[in-house]
Amino acid sequence: MSRGDHRSEVLVVGAGLAGLSAADRLVRAGVQVRVLEASSGVGGRVRGEWSGQRLVDVGAEFFGGPHRRIRALITALGLRIQPAELERAPVLWRLPERHRVTRLPPLPLPELWHLGRAWWQLRRHALKLDPDRPWDCPAATGLDEASLADWLASHGATERGLEVTEALVGGFATRPIGQVSAAHAAWWITAADGLLAAWRSGQQYVVDGGAHQIPHRLADRLGDRIMTGTPVTTITEHRDGVVLGTGERQWAADAAILAIPLPALRHMAIDPPPAPGLREAIEQLSYGHAVKIAATARRTPPVAHRAVVGGQPLAIAWRHGRTLAGIATTEATGDALSNDLATAFGLAPDDLTGTAVTDWTHEPGIGGSYLVYAPGQLTGHAPALHHSRPTRIRYAGADFSSWLNSMEGAVQSGQAAAADLLAAPRTLA
Ligand SMILES: Cc1cc2nc3c(=O)[nH]c(=O)nc-3n(C[C@H](O)[C@H](O)[C@H](O)COP(=O)(O)OP(=O)(O)OC[C@H]3O[C@@H](n4cnc5c(N)ncnc54)[C@H](O)[C@@H]3O)c2cc1C
Repeated sequence: MSRGDHRSEVLVVGAGLAGLSAADRLVRAGVQVRVLEASSGVGGRVRGEWSGQRLVDVGAEFFGGPHRRIRALITALGLRIQPAELERAPVLWRLPERHRVTRLPPLPLPELWHLGRAWWQLRRHALKLDPDRPWDCPAATGLDEASLADWLASHGATERGLEVTEALVGGFATRPIGQVSAAHAAWWITAADGLLAAWRSGQQYVVDGGAHQIPHRLADRLGDRIMTGTPVTTITEHRDGVVLGTGERQWAADAAILAIPLPALRHMAIDPPPAPGLREAIEQLSYGHAVKIAATARRTPPVAHRAVVGGQPLAIAWRHGRTLAGIATTEATGDALSNDLATAFGLAPDDLTGTAVTDWTHEPGIGGSYLVYAPGQLTGHAPALHHSRPTRIRYAGADFSSWLNSMEGAVQSGQAAAADLLAAPRTLA
């Protein structure tokens, strides 16, 4: 042990799904690994909290057919995949001055047709992009110059069509569609290989008992290799290894995987500093805003709909049985969220119990919902996040994947970072 108090072959920073997937892959290949996690638990944005007698997901919850890595992982961990069944019921649309329960968006048919046509044109451009390197395609530049709202408007969507899109996409994007790059929306479509598949990927399946079990099962496999309550503040790369600082202690290794969100990377002193493009991306890219509420209803909601799209303060809400949940993308008090969640499903506020409210923007070590590229940012910054550097410091996390806002992306990036290190044995010497 030449430098640092504790030596491993690889140090993984962050015990979210990306860090845990990377560590799991490395341990299976016989590598000596330690995972350093800032918070008191594992899972990062895939976390459960008690709602009465049950644990409910206060972060990620859904996945879809194209998410093959997370589906394989869930099955390998002995968990069960269940259809979320939100699509089997009509939706409560809360559009400005129009609240309707219908299956299709409540728009006059000609406007629905114009909206559908605009999305179909976006799909046509999207499917020309390479899902792993969308910025390389000439179509990406034009798409990235416009916001999703402007792009759809310039392809025939009406004002009411944009209101529907805001309700449908804004809540999931956790940003108004006027601040989302059309190229980001196109990337999402091409990653899923189609418009319908993209839409369904955000609400198709859940894990029986909750997604929070995924990181816990992975953590069980890793055992005491995980150190929680250990925030890493410095990382130094030298000729034959890396040294990480956590307050008083130092940890040495041959290599490190930084699997922490972009906003958290801003607070890390990295020496030598990342390449200029990556440094700029870390400084300039930001996450959307999401406060998630989950609660248990004391009685079965007396309504047919299982999903609510649009509205305030909750931008989207859904229910599985008596578990209700929703996301607000603007500031709101816990009481306002709870009242809105109850009302959205035909209940009184007193009908809810075990309410858990998580403001991800103020969650230490996270700093928001997830990465949402604004116009100009995808072509400007994404290449730097995806350029593989053969150094002893590797980056992982959903931000570094082709599934930016999902558990799939976290697993993809973690497994890829581990595979990169394994393919470069000299880094591990
Ligand atoms: C409200 C909400 C709902 C979502 N819904 C879905 C969904 O339904 N489906 C879906 O697929 N995705 C969803 N997502 C996105 C998904 O949760 C993320 O894409 C994914 O979990 C990211 O995993 P990660 O490992 O990259 O990062 P994280 O989960 O953020 O993990 C990073 C870890 O690093 C730790 N850390 C940070 N700084 C340090 C440091 N200095 N030292 C040590 N540790 C540090 C953090 O504490 C954290 O544990 C949702 C996200 C949110 C916020």
